[in-house]
Amino acid sequence: MILVSTRNNAQRLEASAATLAGISPEGGLYVPESFPDMTALGDLTSLSYPALCAKLLGLFYDDIKELDALTQAAYVGFDSEKVAPVIETADNEYVLELWHGPTLAFKDMALSVLPRLMTAAMDGGADVLILVATSGDTGKAALEGFCDVPHTKIVVFYPNEGVSDMQRLQMVTQEGGNTHVVAVRGNFDDAQNAVKAMFTDSAFAARVGERGYSLSSANSINFGRLAPQIAYYIGAYAQLLKEGKIKQGERINFVVPTGNFGNILAAYYAKRMGLPINRLICASNKNNVLTDFFRKGAYTLDRPFYKTMSPSMDILISSNLERLLFELTGRDEQAVKAMMSQLKDQGSYDIGGKARAALEAAFYADWCDEAETMACIKKTFEEKNYLLDTHTAVAMGVYEKYKKSGDTTKTVVVSTASPYKFPADVLSSLSVDTQGMDSFEMARHLSKLTGTPLPMQITALESKSVRHTTLADRDALRDAVLEVL
Ligand SMILES: *Cc1c(COP(=O)(O)O)cnc(C)c1O
Repeated sequence: MILVSTRNNAQRLEASAATLAGISPEGGLYVPESFPDMTALGDLTSLSYPALCAKLLGLFYDDIKELDALTQAAYVGFDSEKVAPVIETADNEYVLELWHGPTLAFKDMALSVLPRLMTAAMDGGADVLILVATSGDTGKAALEGFCDVPHTKIVVFYPNEGVSDMQRLQMVTQEGGNTHVVAVRGNFDDAQNAVKAMFTDSAFAARVGERGYSLSSANSINFGRLAPQIAYYIGAYAQLLKEGKIKQGERINFVVPTGNFGNILAAYYAKRMGLPINRLICASNKNNVLTDFFRKGAYTLDRPFYKTMSPSMDILISSNLERLLFELTGRDEQAVKAMMSQLKDQGSYDIGGKARAALEAAFYADWCDEAETMACIKKTFEEKNYLLDTHTAVAMGVYEKYKKSGDTTKTVVVSTASPYKFPADVLSSLSVDTQGMDSFEMARHLSKLTGTPLPMQITALESKSVRHTTLADRDALRDAVLEVL
């Protein structure tokens, strides 16, 4: 299928070429020319998760062969047979667990697939240099996905002191001959802006090109990240159908803990493809720029940045919102371009009345502060015997608020990380004093206390040694990249 840029409809590429390119030359994001109809997937209930994912990808990547083998290989290492199991936590309430991959966060769902799509699309061209800005989870999942993949190198930039101890350890111990990790002085938005600037810097691209590489991105601005994420929304629906929890065609809600708007955008795409979705509920932490946006139709950056216990949602500039704006404005490239330059120059934009009505029909948004998040972890464990991580707790907390609106529609809360990635904050939420314990002691304590299994991904990490120690200023990232080439 052809993808077009959100800022220039004349900029068109096949999905596979757009996946190699990452971002479009004028800074726009690639989106499908039209939404395929999911009825083309046939009966969903008889398919394994990798098979379903392959069929879904086939609707976009019609020029890539052997997608079945590709997705089979991608999900081999997951520690759940269903890959993304749906757990019933209360009446009409379910949790979709997206963290059974190698790094214990939902980024694995797409980043185990993306490198394989890229190598399939490469077809003898230049080698690919992947640049990633991470708020914590993308970095490790991308490092795992690209580790020792031929004809690729990957450089991950993470905000120094902006990620959890476990997240940092996962990255700095990364093995592989083609992997590089750089700590950046600044927050996630600083790292993301610096990486975005490299992608639109043609002089820099030329210098990288001289060394035999072309630049690409593994961030969720890459369509190759989005496409595999659509599959688990359809997969969750199929699983509920198969287990008799819902009837064919019954509409359900999804609650998504949101940062860069990639995960929830995939749900919106699933809806546009025909998945019966009632409301998409966008959950934010104290960095609640999206809550304000959904309520007022205006996006403003003039606000403080908070470091929270859900670091992967500590974002002020939600990149993928641009793809939603494109749809809400009736695919108006000029309007999108104007809003994005207003954001850059004035720090805000307004979407206007018509788009706002479309926004309110499809979405609901709310947020939880730190105390509410901690209380939600405790309450959910005590009342439902289900252990949430700090990100999923934000979503569950928002769902509790949403329920007061009187909507009794069956709802799936999307769980984006294992609680074992954030043992300090999860234990504190359960009123445990963690003073003097290191992250691994905390993880073992958490397992004993809650009777949940300690993931082997954590135990394996403990014996690994640190391999990456580079620290750079945000205006020195180009040099850091050229150095690894
Ligand atoms: C990345 C991430 C999020 C936010 O997802 P977006 O697609 O950026 O909205 C939420 N929770 C966890 C654990 C994450 O890793």
